[in-house]
Amino acid sequence: HDPEEVARMCYTPLGNTGMELSSVGFGASPLGNPYTAEAPSDAEGQACVLKALKSGINYIDTAPWYGQGKSEEKLGKILEDIPRSSYYIGTKVGRYEKDVEGMFDFSAERVKCSVDESLSRLGLRCVDIIQVHDVEFAENVEIILNETLPALQKIKEAGKARFIGITGYPISTLREIVERSTVKIDSVLSYCHLDLNDSSLLDHIAYFEQKGIGVISASPLSMALLTSFGPPDWHPASDEVKASCRNAAQYCQDHGVDIAKLAIHFSFSQAKVATVLVGMDRPSFLERNLDVVHNKLSETEEKVLQEIQKEFFPPGVSRTWEGVEVA
Ligand code: NAD
Repeated sequence: HDPEEVARMCYTPLGNTGMELSSVGFGASPLGNPYTAEAPSDAEGQACVLKALKSGINYIDTAPWYGQGKSEEKLGKILEDIPRSSYYIGTKVGRYEKDVEGMFDFSAERVKCSVDESLSRLGLRCVDIIQVHDVEFAENVEIILNETLPALQKIKEAGKARFIGITGYPISTLREIVERSTVKIDSVLSYCHLDLNDSSLLDHIAYFEQKGIGVISASPLSMALLTSFGPPDWHPASDEVKASCRNAAQYCQDHGVDIAKLAIHFSFSQAKVATVLVGMDRPSFLERNLDVVHNKLSETEEKVLQEIQKEFFPPGVSRTWEGVEVA
C-alpha cells in the first residue's frame, strides 16, 4: 500500500469480524466475465488489482462462478508475490457452471471440494470470508441451513476460512437465513440495492448491524445499467427499468456528465456499509472510481444528480428486476 493513498481512504469495520474494509472494494467478477465485448487484457486486469491495493483498497471479492474459475485463477497469479497481510479476500460456494445441471450445488459434499479448488486456484491456504453464493437459487432455504452453512462451519474450523457470509439479491431471503441459521453468519453481501435506481438496502442496515453482521454492498452501477455503455444481454432488469436508466444516462451525456460517476458517488455517500464492491477490470475505471472517493462532485455534477434523481429515480421508489415498484 502507498501510505499517502491509504491516508485518503476510509475504512469501516465489517460487523464483529475485526476487519476494517476500504470504502471501495475490488469486485473481481469482470476478471472472469467481462461486461464488454472487448475483454480487457490480462495485463490490464493485473494493473488494476495492483493499483487498487496500492491505493488502499484492501478487500477483493471473487467466486468460482466468475468465468468458471478464471477470476480466482487470475487473482492467484496476480497476488502470488503480494504479502498476504496486505489484503482481505472473500470467495464463494454454490454457483458453478453455466447452463448445465449442477450450475447451483449447495450440498455439503460440493462445498468441501469447492473450497479446496478455490484455495488451489488462488494459491492460498485460507480466505478471509467464505460465502454462500446467491442463496435464492437453492431449491429451498433448508438446504442452506442444514447443509451449506454447517459445511462452511467445518471449513472455518479446519482453518480454511476465517468468517462465513451469505450473498444474494432478495434481502428478505438473506434475512430469513440470518434469523434461522444456527451457524454464526458474519457478513451479508447484497447487490444492486444501494444504487440510484434502488436503494432499498437502506431499510435493512440497522437490522443486520444490531445482529453484529457486517454488510457489503455490491454493484453500484447496477451491473452496468448505470453506465453510458449500458447493460449486457443477460441483465435481468425489466425493459422499463432499462429504459429509465438509459434515459438517465442520455440525460447525463447531454449535460457532459458521466452517469457512472454519479452512481458511484450515490452509493458511497449512503448509510455506512463496510464496503461498496465495484467491478474493475480496466485501470481507467479504477482511476475514475478512486477519483469519486477522493474528490467532491463539481457543481454541475451535483445539479445533474439531483435532476436525474427527481426525473428518473424518484425517492421512495425502488425498481427491482421484476419492475415492481415498492413505495
Ligand atoms: P458494477 O455495478 O460494480 O459494475 C459493472 C461494470 O461496470 C464493471 O464490472 C466494470 O466493467 C464497469 N465499470 C466499473 N467502473 C466503471 C466506471 N467508473 N465507469 C464505467 N464503467 C465502469 O457490477 P459488478 O461488477 O457486477 O459488481 C461488483 C462486484 O460485486 C462484482 O465484481 C462481484 O465481485 C460482486 N458481486 C457479487 C454478487 C454476489 O455475490 N451475489 C453479485 C453481484 C456483484
